Amino acid sequence: MKTDRADILASLRNAGDYVSGQQLCERLGVSRTAVWKVIKQLKEEGYRIESVSNKGYLLVESPEDVLSKEEIVSRLTTKWAGRKLYCYTETGSTNNDAKRCGEEGDPHGTVVVADIQNTGKGRRGRAWKTLPGAALTFTILLRPVFPAERASMITLVMALAVAEAVEAALDGNIGDSAEKAAVGVNEDTAVRIKWPNDIIINRKKVCGILTEMTMTPELDEIQYLVVGVGINVNNESPQEFEEEIRDTATSLRIEKGCRLNRAALLQDVLCRFETHYQTFMETLTMSGLREAYQARLQGLDGEVRVLDPAGEYTGVSRGINDRGELIVERADGERVAVYAGEVSVRGLYGYV
Ligand code: ATP
Repeated sequence: MKTDRADILASLRNAGDYVSGQQLCERLGVSRTAVWKVIKQLKEEGYRIESVSNKGYLLVESPEDVLSKEEIVSRLTTKWAGRKLYCYTETGSTNNDAKRCGEEGDPHGTVVVADIQNTGKGRRGRAWKTLPGAALTFTILLRPVFPAERASMITLVMALAVAEAVEAALDGNIGDSAEKAAVGVNEDTAVRIKWPNDIIINRKKVCGILTEMTMTPELDEIQYLVVGVGINVNNESPQEFEEEIRDTATSLRIEKGCRLNRAALLQDVLCRFETHYQTFMETLTMSGLREAYQARLQGLDGEVRVLDPAGEYTGVSRGINDRGELIVERADGERVAVYAGEVSVRGLYGYV
């Protein structure tokens, strides 16, 4: 029944016009009554569907932001990313769920999405906090055949996909809401990537990405990777964030001034990720993506502080190399290639 709903929704959405009940029955191999029941359910859930005799059904409007399996599947245009999909109302951590999928044999590209994530994690076990109904939280399971030292670049590949999708979703509208115009805030309006794994708008974090790797028992090959993404989408105001992140976090809604559809955003991120992943796989380096990544790099040619567990230092950020490492030029002119693993990068006087 679930798939029928997604298929019917997809048929209506893709047609953009009336689709007859007969066509739906034939295309999906279900009865007229089954179609009618699904349409009734969809209407109850807030889809505006017009039914006209002799013409059929027309999808007039979808609810503003539902993160249901049907809503996602009916939008999906990818080849493999998200083709197997688990959609939960609530979970602990989508990365942990995806690892379970990895153990249980789910295919490359399987995606786990959750409306509410209770114990999300950032790097080094730090908490990733979300509010019910506001975040797009998902993890993609990958089964790559490449050496383990290449895996950290996948975070950069995903960061690029998210940055582009966020930019498209905001459609150049960042920071021009009436509220912001009224207070006259002078903002940096680009969507940027804070190396390696954060997406930044107006110097604040809108998304975090965490890649985790599981090796085969012999420890000689990657068994699977999970790439978790948390995007603050529909948080209404900074006050909704916990105090400790209020000054450094933002959401797409805060920046754009209106709600966004998380299922549509997920589809766009997955599509872009699929394309970029293929480019990455051609060389197993960032060479084909370096320019696009670097064009969005926060703090390029600016002074940064490198928080290395082995000792903190400052330098000028000179972009990334083909291995995805950040090149930092120190005062004595020495260029250090910083590997993502345990390191964080900050602006000289604050978060960026
Ligand atoms: P760094 O920010 O030091 O470069 P990081 O980017 O790897 O490290 P993570 O460890 O991935 O950061 O993410 C956890 C951190 O993100 C938390 O310590 C907190 O400061 C911040 N954070 C947690 N939840 C959110 C959120 N919803 N929006 C923005 N920032 C958040």
